Amino acid sequence: MTPVCSTPPGLEQLINELQSSGLRLVDPKAGIASRRGGAGPSDHKAVTIGDRTVMIPVHTAQAFESPFMAERPDASGQSVLLRDGVPVATIAFPAGPRFYQLQTAEGVPYSKIAVMHGSDVLATTVLQTCIRYQSRTKTCQFCAIGQSLAAGRTIAHKQPAQLAEVAEAAVRLDGVRHMVMTTGTPATSDRGAAVLAESAFAVKAAVNLPIQAQCEPPDDDDWFARMKASGVDSLGMHLEIVTPELRQRLMPGKAGVPVERYMQAFAAAVPVFGRGQVSTYILAGLGDSKEAILGMAELLISLGVYPFVVPFVPISGTPLESHPTPDPSFMHAILEPLGAMLWSAGLRSLDVKAGCAKCGACSALASYEKPDRAVGAF
Ligand code: SF4
Repeated sequence: MTPVCSTPPGLEQLINELQSSGLRLVDPKAGIASRRGGAGPSDHKAVTIGDRTVMIPVHTAQAFESPFMAERPDASGQSVLLRDGVPVATIAFPAGPRFYQLQTAEGVPYSKIAVMHGSDVLATTVLQTCIRYQSRTKTCQFCAIGQSLAAGRTIAHKQPAQLAEVAEAAVRLDGVRHMVMTTGTPATSDRGAAVLAESAFAVKAAVNLPIQAQCEPPDDDDWFARMKASGVDSLGMHLEIVTPELRQRLMPGKAGVPVERYMQAFAAAVPVFGRGQVSTYILAGLGDSKEAILGMAELLISLGVYPFVVPFVPISGTPLESHPTPDPSFMHAILEPLGAMLWSAGLRSLDVKAGCAKCGACSALASYEKPDRAVGAF
């Protein structure tokens, strides 16, 4: 193996480029099996670069054309990353989690109940069905929540006891440090808050694991206190897109809950969970301008909300499967000032108790949270 620097300079730029271009693998079996379909990062593989573990697309059409190629890992799991055939970094693939070998007494594999994200995050989609996914006219065009269910790789409703059993094993066997619970949106006014609360309660009764719950804003803000009392530590309410017309076009069902309602819900949730413990997920590259994303981020930060901006990656089989990923320079132009804004406001991914902002594997944003950048920016 060619010796190269294991912590490459310009780490954030390399992550931006990899998340934009994707990665070809000499050995597709390296590391944790990549996921196809489902919620969250799909068609990706967890890759450790320097001190960061990030999710890199490996199954997208763009990835098959990528200038980046990972050589077969050596006995220690290290692999040389090539760009156009030239070694640029040493990377590693986190090993497959041990809890994937287990199943419940009823014979449900643990991996159909929850999966490993990044290097230390247990992630589950409690309800794998969604009212927004029933019809082509309502579905979020980037979402694949029904694909893994249709393929039999997951189950429709993860029961609280199943989640507790898997979470306990994942902590004990694999050192999982926090948990993300997302859900498809049910046809109830709580928009999933109730099922997340009962799930968090069961997990917390079994193991002391910080939990982030993710749902649309419920109709009643009292759900925030109920979720918190049930064991939810951090809350994600994901805007995905910030420009109203784009929301209407690309996520017509979810756009029925307007941005204004999200802002009210953020203002109500922050006093319950704490500053920096409420976050949102924004997909850059779907048409929002840099100014629109940074303007929204400024508003969110002023409320104490962490805006987790990630590059959009198309998922095979979705209406947006051919939509390009954003250019690395577009991501850099957003993440650099955003990292400075976060640092200046004292919002840090490290301080988030659980969830996507803490994990950070879907974006280079955490690498941009640096004081020198804040100094340079003002
Ligand atoms: S940032 Fe969120 S969605 Fe992405 S790998 Fe981490 S936990 Fe999963």
